[in-house]
Amino acid sequence: ESTESLNFIEHIIEEDLKNGFPKDQLRFRFPPEPNGYLHIGHAASICLNFGLGEKYNAPVNLRFDDTNPAKEEQEYVDAIKRDIAWLGFQWANECYSSDYFQQLYDWAIQLIKEGKAYVDQQTSEEIAAQKGTPTTAGTDSPFRNRPIEDSLDLFERMKNGEFAAGSYLLRAKIDMSSPNMHMRDPILYRIVNKPHHRTGSDWCIYPMYDWAHGQSDYVEQVSHSLCTLEFKAHRELYDWYLDQIYDSSLLRPKQREFARRNLSYTVMSKRKLLELVQKNIVSGWDDPRMPTISGLRRRGYTPDSIRKFSDLAGISKRDNVTDVSLLEFCIREDLNKTATRVMGVLNPVKLVITNYPEGKSEILQMENNPEQADSGTHDVPFSRELYIEREDFKEDGGKKFFRLSLGNEVRLKSAYIIKAESVVKDESGVIQEIHCTYDPESRSGSGTEASQRKVKGTLHWVSIEHAIQAEVREYDRLFLDEAPDSHEDKGFLDFINPESLKVISNAFLEPHLANATMDDKYQFQRLGYFTLDSDSKDGKLVFNKTVGLKDTWAK
Ligand code: ATP
Ligand code: MG
Ligand code: MG
Repeated sequence: ESTESLNFIEHIIEEDLKNGFPKDQLRFRFPPEPNGYLHIGHAASICLNFGLGEKYNAPVNLRFDDTNPAKEEQEYVDAIKRDIAWLGFQWANECYSSDYFQQLYDWAIQLIKEGKAYVDQQTSEEIAAQKGTPTTAGTDSPFRNRPIEDSLDLFERMKNGEFAAGSYLLRAKIDMSSPNMHMRDPILYRIVNKPHHRTGSDWCIYPMYDWAHGQSDYVEQVSHSLCTLEFKAHRELYDWYLDQIYDSSLLRPKQREFARRNLSYTVMSKRKLLELVQKNIVSGWDDPRMPTISGLRRRGYTPDSIRKFSDLAGISKRDNVTDVSLLEFCIREDLNKTATRVMGVLNPVKLVITNYPEGKSEILQMENNPEQADSGTHDVPFSRELYIEREDFKEDGGKKFFRLSLGNEVRLKSAYIIKAESVVKDESGVIQEIHCTYDPESRSGSGTEASQRKVKGTLHWVSIEHAIQAEVREYDRLFLDEAPDSHEDKGFLDFINPESLKVISNAFLEPHLANATMDDKYQFQRLGYFTLDSDSKDGKLVFNKTVGLKDTWAK
């Protein structure tokens, strides 16, 4: 394999292997905090870690970073597992940082005994005030030199629930004048009097991220712990903590950083996404406008399209914003190859074929997918009265109008050539019916000369008698601004697009769609790609528009 196709993380691993790191000790993890649903940014990390697992045939753990019971819930654990599995990845072990609470506690005691940690009893404001600045040294806590025995006693009593939240903290004793602020006696443990979704009320002290993360990597013997750039400054602390507990007969994990995936026209932090849910700006975490994996799934995105997007967007060393049009490109490409072609009319006007026998109907065949030679056909009923899109007809279209106008011909997709003869209007002049004649010899695929005849336009249609009525939901971007959370004077909620959802409650679809399931993907001819929504009920189907067609209509 050429090294040019490697991302920079793979280069690091290749370098390690070259320097003698045993390939069979490679191990990765994806470490979500179960405080929200996964989004398209997480997909970058998932595809990176599980992709490395596939490439090097190495195990990848799913590790729930569940050290903050105030924000974490079982619902999120379940959703995260569902989404990763849906993306098509399989974890080697399902792990939880909370499984290591006892081990982390024991190691903390060891630190206290070695004089490397102490119990502080200042408020967090006092501690913050002593931190100093990157160019000036911090001030020692008055409790920094508390006798080891006292810290051991207080830490045990913290654990036993004798103290209120915020009254005591365990801090590492490192260096209050380090140029790296994370090294200025960071907090190891705090008291949180909240039940934990897994450990219940067993614990009321909880480890901080830095203390839990690296040690969890070590317990699981993760070789390359990949995280996003904001943790670069934490790496020194990650290493310091490992130094304290590391047994040289075991593998020592390394933290490496890559840039977060950002996407234009959306926000990606779970806190902000939660706000959209809680304020009912969207219908839930899986609202089809959300950048969550579950929202994209409901919208009609496929696992392949998301994996392809991750591939194309790549892994980079520096922060950047990926244009949402790349994501749309990926799903369009995928659906073009796989979606079944059907017809639906969203803004109907009635069309009557006056020379087609009353009461007659016939079954025509429509190719399921011209991009797939063996995709077959499905039945489409045709009859005298049809719906077409109102925009597809003009009494006098002029030279550049290639749809239907009086005196002119178009082909009805997979059916006949028709010619518009007259219209019926109501009192206010709105067209109620378009009367046409058809050429009975022109049926598509019949092989007749008339069937080969070229006409300028081809329209989609449904037979009124056979059509099913459905709701169709069309989406626009949820935000009007390219970077809604980057403004100093305004918050991201100030940029909500008030027209991000358009509901069409009376669409008419060909009857083939009566059997649609949420796994099926459709191209509504000339309109875009659609999928069944989970709000559908018997007798009331709802379809989501996934994305429009990029290419203009070709028959
Ligand atoms: P958020 O701010 O959205 O809550 P987070 O980093 O706190 O994000 P975690 O659940 O801790 O969310 O993330 C799990 C893993 O996914 C971490 O390794 C994290 O670095 C990575 N990750 C999260 N967001 C992104 C992103 N936008 N791009 C790439 N990786 C990400
Ligand atoms: Mg995190
Ligand atoms: Mg977070």
